[in-house]
Amino acid sequence: MDTPNQSDAAGHLAEVLENIRAAEREAERLAGSVTLVAVSKTFDAEAIEPVIKAGQRTFGENRVQESQGKWPGLKAKYPDIELHLIGPLQTNKVKDAVELFDVIETVDRDKLARALKKEMEVQGKSLRLFVQVNTGAEEQKAGVLPEATADFVNRCRDEHGLEIEGLMAIPPFDEPPAPHFALLAKLAKEIGLKTLSMGMSADYEIAVAHGATHVRVGSAIFGTRPKP
Ligand SMILES: *Cc1c(COP(=O)(O)O)cnc(C)c1O
Repeated sequence: MDTPNQSDAAGHLAEVLENIRAAEREAERLAGSVTLVAVSKTFDAEAIEPVIKAGQRTFGENRVQESQGKWPGLKAKYPDIELHLIGPLQTNKVKDAVELFDVIETVDRDKLARALKKEMEVQGKSLRLFVQVNTGAEEQKAGVLPEATADFVNRCRDEHGLEIEGLMAIPPFDEPPAPHFALLAKLAKEIGLKTLSMGMSADYEIAVAHGATHVRVGSAIFGTRPKP
């Protein structure tokens, strides 16, 4: 049985996709060059499934444990789902994360890189990996500092044997995001990476204008989340 909320999510998905396509055109970028990562954190399988049925296949979650409660079943039912971890990853959760996720967007330290390499070998799985950059150098926020990003990406490749596909950032919530998007794009270009995960419900169109290849949109699709 559909609750009004659930049918809303599919409608909101269509609107967000429409806005992304318009932002691509506006920035003279190829149609479809931006992937929507639908952020389903705090919503249960019942709320997520209508969005899958509407055609969405790429999803983001910020907690490993919460994801284990809903995604194994959904992934069994819809095998072409691509699941992104967009929240901090503790090394004691690496085994579970490698089992469940397809992309880790939050690689940000050597200890984690080593643990991921080891666990991917054990499981014979190769996940796609992004490095999280703390563009605002915020004390509480995860991510490598902008000036340390190139060295870290190189260490991932040369010391840890991990290929890094792109960069991800969450700008400070109380600042205009555009300078942070521009900084992330500049870093990626300098390092020679083509994938940029940036932009959320409030600013994904701005992120597309600055070259985002992945936008992570939650509340604009699923509705507002209960405050933590
Ligand atoms: C929750 C979250 C999002 C989505 O935020 P909305 O404002 O709901 O679109 C994007 N990225 C990260 C890392 C998140 O934790």
